[in-house]
Formats: sequence, structure tokens, C-alpha cells
Amino acid sequence: MISTEPGSDLLTALRIAHPEWRPLLALIEAARWEIERPEWRDSVPSIPSPSPGPEPLLSGTVLAVASRPIERWVHRVLVTAAGAGPDAPFVDAATARRIDPRSLLQAAVAQDEEHLDGLSRTVGDTHGVLAALAPLLAMPLLHACRRAWTASVPVSWPHGYCPTCGAWPTLAEIRGLDSGRHLRCRRCGGDWVTEWLLCPFCGERDHAQLGSLVSAGRLERDKIEVCDRCHGYIKTTMTFAPIPPEQVVLQDLATVVLDVAAVERGYRLPQSRGPVATRIVAGRSGLRAFLSRAFELGVV
Ligand SMILES: [Zn+2]
Ligand SMILES: [Zn+2]
Repeated sequence: MISTEPGSDLLTALRIAHPEWRPLLALIEAARWEIERPEWRDSVPSIPSPSPGPEPLLSGTVLAVASRPIERWVHRVLVTAAGAGPDAPFVDAATARRIDPRSLLQAAVAQDEEHLDGLSRTVGDTHGVLAALAPLLAMPLLHACRRAWTASVPVSWPHGYCPTCGAWPTLAEIRGLDSGRHLRCRRCGGDWVTEWLLCPFCGERDHAQLGSLVSAGRLERDKIEVCDRCHGYIKTTMTFAPIPPEQVVLQDLATVVLDVAAVERGYRLPQSRGPVATRIVAGRSGLRAFLSRAFELGVV
């Protein structure tokens, strides 16, 4: 059984256990490195005061990102994905160049499925590869947002979707000695507390409509919580400490057997909530960005 304790090298464990996942794991590893690059951090605006409404923090923001990091990151993802073989038939060097990197990142960050569909049609992506890559593409910028806006996340967030980026949770943690239930976002690593008996997708609270499944071969700490009102499900794992934000995407992959079990029983993940109103505009690059930031900080 793969160790999924926070702090363990889950990436290495998955590489050994699932050599067939190596192209995907290479993408995730690339995303983890990319998250640490300062260009993304420098693109995130400050949020003066948190909104009391139901919109995630990302909504209404304008992210000024220079062209170079976008082009570099999008190109890297598409080229790495090409190693996945025949399931990514459009991702060759020539067709990858036909995709506008900024447009693709915009669609990915905003979860704009219509926009993604249009880009897929442009390059003949009939396998939904771009849609599958979208959460990974969005990770560097959205992790930067989460880090920058931590203090602005409402202490109490009663909604099922991520308070930072607006995505549905990818898993739930039953955490620590007090067994608090936390929802986690694979796009930005977000972490928010929720009630025990509550479907994050439709808000169902009736215990007669809510249940859980345990997949054969899994440890007792892993289960699938299901809702018979909306037929949604969420993978749930018991943890002593929070899964590090950068590892949520790996934990999601490590528990894919639970997704299979849920789908086999007629449950499914919900559709995206619709695009978040955010825009990625052209930002300053290189020396100009550095000097501007230094000026803001009073260094020069
Ligand atoms: Zn999020
Ligand atoms: Zn539900």
C-alpha cells in the first residue's frame, strides 16, 4: 500500500507503484517546481478586504502576468503531455504552437469550459486532453493566489466550493484528534472547514440521503462519501495533519481507485460551477517587474 502520510515522498512512491503514470507524474512534478517561481507570486494583486458574499476570492480579480512565464509553462505542459502517447494526438510541436498560451491559461484558471472546448476544437483535441490538463496548467498561478490571500479567506465558509478559486473540492480530510472535516482543492491547494453531514455539491443535510462506501483493498482511513440527491461523491481520508497544499493533486491521483469505485456504483463528480470572473492581462516582465516590486517595497 502506498504511504500517503503528509511529508512522505508520495511522488516517488507513485512512480514506483505506477510506472504507467510517469508522464502524468512528470507533469505534476513540473507543476510543483513551477509553483515556486516568483513570476506567479508577483502577478497576484492584493485583496483590500474580503467580500462577505458567496463569490470566491478569485472572482473579480485582474491578474497581470508577463508573457514569458505563461509561454514557458504552457509549452512545458503541452510538450510533457506529448510523452503520454497516442491519447494526446494533438500535442505535437506544430499544433501546440497554434494554441494561444494566454488564452489557454485564462480558460484554465477561470474554469471556463466553453472557452476550453473552443480551444480544443481549434487544435482537433477530440480526447478532452486540454480539459484534463487545465487544473495542472492553473496550479502555479492559483497556488500563488492562495498563498497571497490566506489572510483574506473567510474564517467561516459555508459553501462547498473553494473559497479561493471557486473549484469543487477534490477530496475531504477527517483531520486530527478533533476529527474536523476539511475540504481540499487540487487546483490551488485550498483548505476549508465544513460540516460533517453536508453534501458539498448540493447542500443536502438529510442523513437518509447521505452515505459512505469503502473500496475493497483500501485502508480503513479511506472511504467515499456519497449523496443520493445529486449522485455526487467525495473521496475522504483520515489524516493527523493537513495534506500539504502542493500534495493535494498527488493525493487525488493516489486515491484514483476510489473514483473508479464510486463511478462503478453510479456516482459522479459534478460539472464545473461555471467560469469565475477573472482576467489575465499582460504584465510586466523581467527587470521591469523586479524594479517595480523593489520600488513598492521601498528598496530603491
Ligand atoms: Zn481552489
Ligand atoms: Zn448532493
